[in-house]
Amino acid sequence: MKKAVVVGSGAGGATVAKELQGSFEVTVLEEGRPFRPFTVELRNMEIMKKSALMVDARLVRLLFPAMRVRKSSGDVMMVNGVGTGGTTTICTANAIRKDEALRALGINLDQEFKELFEEVPISSDHQRHWHAHTQQAFELCSQMGLQPVPTQKMAYRSRCAGCGRCVFGCQRGAKWDSRVFLDKAVEGGAKIVSGCSVKKVVIHDGSAIGVEIAGGLGSGFYPADLIVLAAGGFGTPAILRNSGIECQPRLFVDPVLCVAAKWEGSLQDREIPMPFIVQKEHFILSPYFDFLSYFFNRNWKYRAKDIYSLMIKLADSNSGEVVGRKINKSLTESDLDRLREGAELCGEILRGLGCRDEEIFPGTLNAGHPGGMLPLTGKESGTFHNDVLPENVYVADSTLFPESLGNPPILTIMAMAKRVSRKCLALA
Ligand SMILES: Cc1cc2nc3c(=O)[nH]c(=O)nc-3n(C[C@H](O)[C@H](O)[C@H](O)COP(=O)(O)OP(=O)(O)OC[C@H]3O[C@@H](n4cnc5c(N)ncnc54)[C@H](O)[C@@H]3O)c2cc1C
Ligand code: SF4
Repeated sequence: MKKAVVVGSGAGGATVAKELQGSFEVTVLEEGRPFRPFTVELRNMEIMKKSALMVDARLVRLLFPAMRVRKSSGDVMMVNGVGTGGTTTICTANAIRKDEALRALGINLDQEFKELFEEVPISSDHQRHWHAHTQQAFELCSQMGLQPVPTQKMAYRSRCAGCGRCVFGCQRGAKWDSRVFLDKAVEGGAKIVSGCSVKKVVIHDGSAIGVEIAGGLGSGFYPADLIVLAAGGFGTPAILRNSGIECQPRLFVDPVLCVAAKWEGSLQDREIPMPFIVQKEHFILSPYFDFLSYFFNRNWKYRAKDIYSLMIKLADSNSGEVVGRKINKSLTESDLDRLREGAELCGEILRGLGCRDEEIFPGTLNAGHPGGMLPLTGKESGTFHNDVLPENVYVADSTLFPESLGNPPILTIMAMAKRVSRKCLALA
């Protein structure tokens, strides 16, 4: 049987590994270690916060190795997951189909989404567990004509305690993440090598012959007949560049800004995150307790239980790039205008909920949906293969998106990864 190497085990990589194992002998190479949730009690963190030990969000990895926070050249905090399951392990479990831009290219992923809705436990059956404050926020948004919709979540509902700790990894195994697909691949015989950072694809006479592992104890070479890169929107362009293949400076990241207010006893930190979503043309709004801001932003001075926060998640411009370890990304004027529009709307909602103007405050600008540096165009709509790649190398992650979704991307990435897998099967 031919050998396939899949790089990365997040949304895209785990999907491809599951789909290909059996037709190929699959090895998944993952830079991070097996995922462990962050289990420290939040009240202990509150004590640490008071002691002013937590000054820089980038140090979060010392406490929680699966979460990486970096600062871009334009001062946006970039967040991603490193470890088995990739960023899906620290996600808030939102499952949104968002493939309009792919449809515009003539790509129809109906079959792939249908399979995903059968394989992943997806429902919006959590509304009855919302706290009164969230119910009130939902009703106000409805009255304002914002058409809020309860969010579809990837979760085994009966196991969910609604604890609000999704971004730290779920300790109850209630949240679905891509390790479920990885486990399926392993059951079928796939191998997972964690702690293994791929440096580049080794190309000989126009064909890839394997991948080279970055230095250190694990340095070496993995031969392969097929290579699928799914190292995420930051990782895949870096590997391609090291391999002599340039991507495009079209990085988007879906910037997030929270606007929060003092609202006593709202207990949002102990509630399912992003329970409903308001869709606007260039951004979404959703209730979200932003732990990153809470721990590291001095504006967030109230007790966690007394803060209610609304997230603006922006569909940003395709401009930026990853160069080695550096992320060059700044927001454009139109991005900033749209963020301001979102912040005004959040202020209006919070005031409508009875919060006082002088107790409304912003969070830290951050982002966690990178992608877009090797975008699909009409030319690749049938093949899912870009001509700059050797014929036995595919990409199967957010790098393929033609533009920012401004929305949770996991489901759509997995649908694309299923289609990429189908194309790869022709090489088996
Ligand atoms: C806090 C947070 C919450 C989120 N919540 C949601 C949500 O609720 N719903 C949603 O749809 N999306 C959510 N997202 C976004 C979503 O998780 C990611 O967009 C998605 O997981 C990206 O999938 P991917 O396959 O492109 O990359 P990833 O899932 O990031 O996987 C890439 C993997 O590749 C590995 N890797 C990187 N470089 C290398 C290398 N050189 N060698 C080997 N391995 C490498 C990484 O360690 C990682 O495991 C959230 C993101 C964040 C940060
Ligand atoms: S709210 Fe808590 S129990 Fe429910 S999925 Fe998130 S982390 Fe798991």
